[in-house]
Amino acid sequence: MNVNRALFDEVMVPNYAPPAVIPVKGKGSRVWDQEGREYIDFAGGIAVNCLGHCHPALVQALQAQSEQLWHLANVMTNEPALRLARKLTDATFAERVYFANSGTEANEAALKLARRYAFNEFGEAKNGIIAFERSFHGRTLFAVTVGGQKAYSDGFGPKPGAIHHAIYNDLASLEALISDTTCAVIIEPVQGEGGIIEADPTFIKGVRELCDKHNALLIFDEVQTGVGRTGHLYAYMDCGVTPDILTSAKALGGGFPVAAMLTTTAIAKHLSVGTHGSTYGGNPLACAVAEATFDTVNDPALLDGVRQRHQRFRDGLNRINETYGIFRDIRGKGLLIGAELQPALAGRAKEILQAATREGLMCLVAGPDVVRLAPSLVIPDADIDEGLLRFERAVASVFASAAQSA
Ligand SMILES: *Cc1c(COP(=O)(O)O)cnc(C)c1O
Repeated sequence: MNVNRALFDEVMVPNYAPPAVIPVKGKGSRVWDQEGREYIDFAGGIAVNCLGHCHPALVQALQAQSEQLWHLANVMTNEPALRLARKLTDATFAERVYFANSGTEANEAALKLARRYAFNEFGEAKNGIIAFERSFHGRTLFAVTVGGQKAYSDGFGPKPGAIHHAIYNDLASLEALISDTTCAVIIEPVQGEGGIIEADPTFIKGVRELCDKHNALLIFDEVQTGVGRTGHLYAYMDCGVTPDILTSAKALGGGFPVAAMLTTTAIAKHLSVGTHGSTYGGNPLACAVAEATFDTVNDPALLDGVRQRHQRFRDGLNRINETYGIFRDIRGKGLLIGAELQPALAGRAKEILQAATREGLMCLVAGPDVVRLAPSLVIPDADIDEGLLRFERAVASVFASAAQSA
């Protein structure tokens, strides 16, 4: 069979638009395509491959578990899931864990739990959910409607109701919307898809206070920021604010699909037997890989390394910007980094991504104006430096063609 990009157009639903290259192998922060061309990976599978590709500890965990037990119905529990849950609860505010398979599903569970908690504790009228504009919470109809980009949920109606959107980093806009009928506020501590925007420390504290005042649960969507990405195990640990429910996915499995919703005993009890579930959630293979990922990432030396690498990226991007002056802002936390284009170059982040692919570098965008980097948390300095060289060549090629077309 001829497996190439043309086959995509023949057999796949056209909801993605991949480039011509088809990666076939990865090791650490390097990836190779069908032609044997090498790429440096600053994308990390969108903040998923937190230990790069085929990390030995993860390969070992997957191989060992694959010879033990792959799957059980959820009428039984299993050792990897229980071990992972114990480690997650030991390391965080949470006392209880629910496993799912994707960020969307973890958020779906969090939002359903918030509704059920309010229903049981306060009655049916307390059902309002407040999220923030430009937020992203996934793609089920509930999660995508909660997300702050209407364009993603339009055309799929009727939409779930009682969902409202405040403005990120604008406490007054939340204050105007929140009331005693609000059951939950859901927020990303750093907006990922929305453009790598950090919550202001006073804003996030204010959000917590407003939730407390109105008996609304505070849900932190840490699907992108969790598991070391920001240089902390979870971003909330550096916010001075503890959520009631936290969702984790992406980096949790280091590339194996797994997600978790974390909460307290008092809240968790409202998801009683039969109220919610998932066929694959808590799958032994997934939990075994996640356990190895978690053991590796939950290490002060590794997390310190993330913060050091942040500075190396920032210095490199600043140097490139001194030459080309194309970015108005370079920002982010840990190894979740955004570089926003100058207004004159608005909408052209995708061109830089495409040029980077041609130069042998995988990177990301976050919206039309922001180039996003989310590399492995253990990417070697040499790969950072070589990747930044390739990034500079990509910037130079776009900048040159911009000059020509001007
Ligand atoms: C990626 C992402 C999701 C959705 O996760 P999936 O695994 O794609 O379902 C939800 N929330 C945030 C903040 C994300 O970055």
